Amino acid sequence: MAEITLNSQALKHNLNIISSHIGANIELGAVLKDNAYGHGLEQIALLARDYGIKSVFVKNYAEALRISQYFPLITAFYGMPEGKFPKNIAFVINDKAHIAALPRGTKVELKVNAGMNRNGIESSEIYTFIELILQNGLELVGVFCHNGYGDDVDSAFEQGQKRFAEIKQEVRGLSQKYGFKLPRFHSLSSSGAVRAAANKGGISDDLVRIGIAMYGYLDVNFQNPVSANLQKVAALYADRVATRIAQKGARIGYSGCTSLERESVISTYDIGYGDGFFRVNERHKVYTKEGYQILPRSSMDCFSCLCDKHRICVFDNATPIAKAFDTISYEVLTRLSPAIKRTII
Ligand SMILES: *Cc1c(COP(=O)(O)O)cnc(C)c1O
Repeated sequence: MAEITLNSQALKHNLNIISSHIGANIELGAVLKDNAYGHGLEQIALLARDYGIKSVFVKNYAEALRISQYFPLITAFYGMPEGKFPKNIAFVINDKAHIAALPRGTKVELKVNAGMNRNGIESSEIYTFIELILQNGLELVGVFCHNGYGDDVDSAFEQGQKRFAEIKQEVRGLSQKYGFKLPRFHSLSSSGAVRAAANKGGISDDLVRIGIAMYGYLDVNFQNPVSANLQKVAALYADRVATRIAQKGARIGYSGCTSLERESVISTYDIGYGDGFFRVNERHKVYTKEGYQILPRSSMDCFSCLCDKHRICVFDNATPIAKAFDTISYEVLTRLSPAIKRTII
């Protein structure tokens, strides 16, 4: 049976590197959304908790419920709750309808648009939203934005940070005026956190939201002491289904796209596009970790290689796979089917 191994030492190592780079006074929040970037939500939650992580971010309420016993605070980026829910789940306010939908006493984080023009309220609406949040008896635990320019070497990143500094200033003023507890402030994901930490002045938020770097990836266009030292957490293994000796000229798989140049030993392995691994067709050249080509075309539940090993490592680094399919490591990882067995090593 195919398996994903999760290297607990690598995860710990990555969190150590990141936290020493960003500084001990900034809280390290872990982003566990989308099944912990395909790694397995419960498994990564356990490792993060054992490491001492206190705040995590997940995609929605359903993900938050699955790990609510592990952390003091779990923020659900999207969606609203149904029925009764644990007190330690915070919901994100992107719209007035979200305020109206939540029962009194619920923890909320207010998302503000700082230049990505995607989600969040406008900074001109902060006063109105905070007033509504207070009137509705919600507990404002955080105000945040998402700086989407951390990877790019232009000034948009600094502009986003400047805008967030103004937002923080306004919220501090409102907190003094209306006497509510100052919420936590956060704006940086992996690339932004690593970048801001290296800038003069360092990070001026309370917390950073670390996703991809925790899993061992940080492909950015600026020099930094983190990228090259990260270790990949996940590796995908496939097990042999069948082996045969096929004659020269034999055609393999759907439409017989591959035809053998010589008599060969050929095996199928139990990963296909139904398992969330991209479908390899005649336009892709994709190799397993040990260098066996995944022969086009792969099927829903298996692929073929010229090899007879019992088990092969499909990848222990998603980057070459991402390049072959013109995408990013995030997508290769998050697509991995939750049904594949995860094993912490
Ligand atoms: C996904 C996400 C992150 C984490 O981003 P990485 O690049 O994986 O570190 C942080 N904040 C928000 C709002 C996100 O959606």
